[in-house]
Formats: sequence, structure tokens, C-alpha cells
Amino acid sequence: MRTHFSRFLAPLLCALLAATAAAQAPFSGTPAIEQSLDKLTVLGSVLFIAAHPDDENTAILAYFARGRHMRTGYLSLTRGEGGQNLIGPEQGALLGLIRSQELRAARRIDGGEQFFTRAIDFGYTKTPEETLAKWGRERILSDVVWVIRRFRPDVIILRFSGTPRDGHGQHQVSAILGKEAFFAAADPSRFPDQLKFVQPWKARRLLFNTFSFTRDQEKEAAATPGRIEVDTGAYNPVLGVSYNQIAGMSRSMHRSQGMGVSQRPGPSKNFLVPLGGDPPPKDAFDGIDTSWERVQGGAAIGAILAEAVRTFVPDHPERSIPLLLKARPPIAASHDPWATEKLGELDEAIALCAGLWLDANADVYAAVPGGKLRISYTALNRSGFPMTLDSVTLEGMGSESSTDTHRSALNPNQPVNAQIDATVPAGQPDSQPFWLREPRVGDTYTISDQRLIGLPEDPPLLNLRFRIVADGVTFDLARPVRHRYVDRVEGEQTRALIVAPPVVLNLPRDVVLFPDANPRKVEIEVRANAPGQSGNVRLDAGQEWRADPEARAFDGLKADEQQPLAFEIKPWIPRGFAYSGPAPVQPPDPSGPLRAVARVGGREIGVGMLVISHPPLPPLTVFPPAVVKLVRADVHVTARKIGYVMGAGDEMPDAIRQLGCEVALLGASDLEQRDLSGFDAIVTGVRAYNTRADLRANLPRLLEYVHNGGTLIDQYNVTDANLVPIGPYPFKIGHGRVSVEETPVTFPNPANALLHTPNEITAKDFDGWIQERGLYFASEWDPRYQTVLESHDPGEKPLAGGMLYARYGKGVYIFSGYSWFRELPGGVAGAYRVFANMLSAR
Ligand SMILES: [Zn+2]
Repeated sequence: MRTHFSRFLAPLLCALLAATAAAQAPFSGTPAIEQSLDKLTVLGSVLFIAAHPDDENTAILAYFARGRHMRTGYLSLTRGEGGQNLIGPEQGALLGLIRSQELRAARRIDGGEQFFTRAIDFGYTKTPEETLAKWGRERILSDVVWVIRRFRPDVIILRFSGTPRDGHGQHQVSAILGKEAFFAAADPSRFPDQLKFVQPWKARRLLFNTFSFTRDQEKEAAATPGRIEVDTGAYNPVLGVSYNQIAGMSRSMHRSQGMGVSQRPGPSKNFLVPLGGDPPPKDAFDGIDTSWERVQGGAAIGAILAEAVRTFVPDHPERSIPLLLKARPPIAASHDPWATEKLGELDEAIALCAGLWLDANADVYAAVPGGKLRISYTALNRSGFPMTLDSVTLEGMGSESSTDTHRSALNPNQPVNAQIDATVPAGQPDSQPFWLREPRVGDTYTISDQRLIGLPEDPPLLNLRFRIVADGVTFDLARPVRHRYVDRVEGEQTRALIVAPPVVLNLPRDVVLFPDANPRKVEIEVRANAPGQSGNVRLDAGQEWRADPEARAFDGLKADEQQPLAFEIKPWIPRGFAYSGPAPVQPPDPSGPLRAVARVGGREIGVGMLVISHPPLPPLTVFPPAVVKLVRADVHVTARKIGYVMGAGDEMPDAIRQLGCEVALLGASDLEQRDLSGFDAIVTGVRAYNTRADLRANLPRLLEYVHNGGTLIDQYNVTDANLVPIGPYPFKIGHGRVSVEETPVTFPNPANALLHTPNEITAKDFDGWIQERGLYFASEWDPRYQTVLESHDPGEKPLAGGMLYARYGKGVYIFSGYSWFRELPGGVAGAYRVFANMLSAR
């Protein structure tokens, strides 16, 4: 009898496998074939668990996947939404989307598979308690249990210890929940709803991949009883590299985190310490049968596949095909989950040995509901082994499938080309990533379909299933339908096929600030994804705001055409207040969402469309809600002309423009030659001194600008090899950070002008902050600096180094590690008021 597991999950898993196979792999030809043949003979699996993209030990993953041929997975609790972004302005969920793809790219290199839970990385926290409170212990534990039950690992390896030595509270939680899930996954009374799809699973053992920050910890680790050693520096002669070198390539895929690392050859020791299950004497898999013997009747299958490995001839891989075809019927007849897993691998191994090229290419990358698609497909057998293409079947989009029963012989290196026309169902939903479709709950995503939980990305919209017959044996190979195109810089590329609404509404920004009672213009761009789009756009701003006009029409837009529609928004007015009457003296500071909705052919569309492009990652498309946050705050600013030195990337220039200031981005030649005296203030972006040599080189000019009466504001930087001493007087940047965003902020020098001019700052201005207070505060400073703000995490020492103020010559210098780069773009009214005072400082 087939298990629930295979009946419900096999199609999803196969679809993902197909997507993996189609993607660019670093090893091809003989090394790829040898890897896949070896893997057919190994029935063992290992799951590595940590908290973030980039926590994983890529050397351990490469060692088990590429060296030991184990099925190897990495479960990252989060998609890394709270990290930094070195390659673009994306933050939060969009950064999580990018990092999910970076992990997929890393796994293609080290040979692992990728999983996530619903947990969102909400930023740095020192405690597991805050983490578990924000995530919900049972909710995330349930996801870890689910991934274990579905993946069925023999060995689970934790990256962290579950103690304060892990640092980040989310790191600690990954180990706390990992330990708990090791037992809970085996217990049918835990999360019984999952048992509709999976069965309880007892992993054989739980290990901790130790790390040592200090010499004492190193000594302590060396003395840990039962610890075993793994040499990830071992050389793989087939691949021509060591596992550490593969790890270096894999880790360098974390581009948004600036994780590029060297590929160091030579020995490298890793240690695994037993935490649960029976302790291994020497090797992680000691006592675990990883041969075909673990499958009932598997010995014969194992013998055939071992012969295929033994007799493989690199010059003639097609000679291995008969043995693979011989092994296929008994594997297909077995109902063991391992057999289901290996059957997919076997069919792909046959394809590799035959040099079989199977491709399904859609004529567009974005189709609309009810629209037509033309899919061109190619089947090409690049070996002399006789094969026939029996049929192709299109699967996906509401299970519509069409079979083309044209039988064709696949003659050596002679492609069979044909086309299939398909119609996108009228009710097909937009291709929003599945974890972004429903409103989040606290710091977790909402995913109603249990079967999607854990997956790194959406299964392909459409698959083309090629049915191949070779020597009387029939097998299917699925390939995702993708869109192939040529980029002038990057060369031939493919991207996922998506479904998009007929029109989308793109808003210029996420936040519109009303620093006074005057109305502001908001321009909304309607963009058509299909020809002949007519309709109207209506703004809904709630009762307290007024949009003028309330709706605007658009008519006959062509595909890809965009049209701007301008509206005027009048700010918040208290209920019962007439526009013609006297203005309220001190209105409260409300904020509210402004929703834009397009009505086209009876359908209401309230989303925009954002394509994120960071080669070599494939372009990623999301449909953010067409909502702007309207913020009414009384903000006075006396500065007008601002110079901004962009650092690692932030959205501050646009935020400063919202105050009514003019912002000029300063390049290398500006810093070197331009007369800076025309600027009322110059602001350096986050980590600007870390990332820009031109800024470091022109620091004396900036200080001279201050001395002559200018205002210079430096935001947070980290202490790395690039950092030079900044500011007119010495101060040291430390590691002080305040991660609890609700923690109180006090004023150590209440008379400081930054608290009074032109805006009177009170504790209320620190309400509603997001993610954190700040990071990389100053740890020591010259007495000529005055401290302005003090805050600290609960139970910790006061940190006054988050904002330093000094007069220098005729000007003012300000250093601030507070997270202005998050709060201003996030529409936090009080943060605008404090920052306006910084810009206006004289
Ligand atoms: Zn981490």
C-alpha cells in the first residue's frame, strides 16, 4: 500500500527536483554523472538546522552531500528578513525573497536541499524568550517537526547549542526547538494534524556541530566526551576540489550579506558532539544501514546499481543505461519512501547518461488570467542509445493537462521540436510567493496549505512531463516551463513563468509624509500586462483624508504601457472639522493607509508589480499591495539643501526629500572638488565609511566643511579593516546595540539643542519605532562630545553612545547609531522630527 507520504507529497517533491535539475549546476559531464550514480547506491540522510541563511556550515553540507552522497538538507528557521542588504535597497520580506534564492543557489553548489519554517527574522535579539514570544513556540516547533517528518533524516545536526554562547536569540531558539523536535517528530500525539500527510519519524541521532569563539571554549570542546571528527578539507578527486573549497563557492552565493570567502585547500577539522539518540563511536552514520538493504527486497537493486557504478566508462556513459533500466522496475514496484525518492534520481541519472536535453519554453514570462501561452518544447537525445518520445503532458494551473500523443524516435543528436498552446484559467491567482499571500501573524508568515510549509519557493506553475521509452522501459521526466531569453550582458538566461494581473498599480514610495497641513500630490502609475486595458483607479484613504479626485480613468492601454495618474491628498482633519474653518492648534499625529484599487472588466486589482533583479539570481517578481502609509506629523525643518553620501544602500534620500528638502547624492568627484559650503547639512549613509574609499579619502574636506559652519551627520558604521577614525574628535565605535524597539529613550543632557530646535522632542517621539532602536553605538568618546539620547535593552547597562553631538569651529558634527535608515522609510513620525532637528542643527 502506498503511504500517505508518497501519495500527497511525491508530486510536489518531484516538481522541486525537476526545478533543481534544470538549474545551472557547478559540476557537469562526468563528475555530475559519477555523483548521481554514486548517490543511487546510498540511502542515508542528514538534516542541518540553524536560524538564518548564512548560519549553515556549507563545508559540512558539501561533505555529506558531495562526499558521502547522503541526501542532505538545510533547515533555516527564517529567510533572513532582518539582515543587511549589500546589493540593493530591499529590506524585510523582499530581502527574505532574495536570500531564499541565494540559498537555493548555494545548495546547487554544495548539493543540499533547502527548507524554511514560517518564522520571520525580526532583527537582532539577545534572548530566546523574546524570539519565542514573537514567533509562538508551538507554531515554529510544529514546522521543524513537519520538515523532519517529511525529510526523514537519519541524523540531525544542530549548528547552535541553545545557550547564550550562541549570541543571537534566534540562534539559541534554533537549537532549543531542534532538540525538542528530535523527540516530538517521533511522537504521534504531537501535531497529529500533520499525520494526514506524513508519518511520525524518529531520527537515529542528534549531533551538535561545535564552534569555539575563545581559547577556553576550544579547550572545553576538545575535552567533550564522545565528540567525533570530520575532515571537510578532504580532497574529492572526481570533482577536483575539497569540500571546504566547495563550501567557499557555496558561501559566496550569500551576496546580499557580503559573504564572499576564499576557497582554502588543505585540512580542516569539524567536530560533532552527540546530544541525543545513540552516540556514534567514530562516524556520524555508525550503525546506520545506508545501503539498499534497508529497503525490503532492496539487496538485488543495490547489486545492480553497484555494478553500474563499477562498470561506468566516462567516455561512454550510455553503456550504463541498460543497468539503470534493469534496476528501474523493482524500484518502481517498492512502496518504501526511499524507493520513491531514488526512482526520481534514477530517471534523472538515465537522462544524464544519455545527455538527454529536455526543455519547455514559454513565449512570455508573465501571462494574464484568461490569456494564451505558446510553449515550445525540445527533446534531444545526445547519445547513441535508442529512445522514443512517447508523449508529453502539460501539468499545472488547476490540473488542466493536455497530452500530445505524437510518438517520435529520438535519433542521436536530432532534436524533436513541437509546440503546445495553453490558456491560463480565468481564475488563476497571481504568482505571489506562497508565504506572502496571506497577512502575517506577528513575526510569522501565514500559510494555509500545510503541504507548502517548508518549501524554499513555489513549485513551478507548469511542468511538461516527457514520457520516454528506452529498451521497453517507460519513464517520465518533468521539466518546469520557463521563459528563455538573452540578456546582452549576462547571456542566455531563463526565468520562472508567472501569472500577473491584467493591470498593476505602482506607487512611488511606501510612505507619504505630511510635515504640515498642506495637501500633497501622489502619482500612481497604471501598468498594463496585456493589451487593450481600460478602467479606472480609485483611492481609498479612509474618513480622515481626502483624495481629489476620488477616481481617475485610463483607456486602451497597450501591453507594457504605463500611465501616471495624479491625485491630491489632503491631510488628516479631525472628525467634524470643516476645511473652511479655523485650523486645529495641535492636531494629533495620525497615520493611515491609502489604498489604490483599479477596476478592470469587473475585477478589482489592488497590487503593484515589482521585479527584483540581482544577477546572477533569476529575476524575482512580487505583487506588493498598492498601499501607501500616510503620515501626518508636525515637523519643522530649517535645512533646505542636503548632500547625501550613499553607503551600503538605504532609502534615506527619499525620506529626507519628504521633509521638503532638496537632496543631492554626492559622488567621488563631488567629495573631491565640489564646493560643499552650499549644503545646509551633509549626511553619510549606513556603513558609508566601510564601503567607500572616496569618502575616507575626503574626510578632511568634510571636517573643513563643518569647521566653516556646515553640519555633518554620520550614521552607523561597523569596525572593520576599512574603517578610519571619523568625527572631529576621537571616539570609538563599539558593538553596543539596542534591539528592543519599545525600550525607553531618555535625555542625558536635556538642554541639548537637538532636543528643542526646531522641534520640541519628547518621549512620545520614540513611540511606534520598528525592529530596533539602533546598533554599533559609540563605546568611548572625547569629552568634547555631548551625549543626546540614552537607551538600553532590558536588564543591560545604559548606552549613551547612540548619539554624539559636538560643535567644531562654526559647525556641528553628529554621530548617530540610531536606526534612522529603518524608522524614516518606515514612516515613524517621531523619528522624522528628531532627524529634522539633526539636519537643522547650527
Ligand atoms: Zn544567524
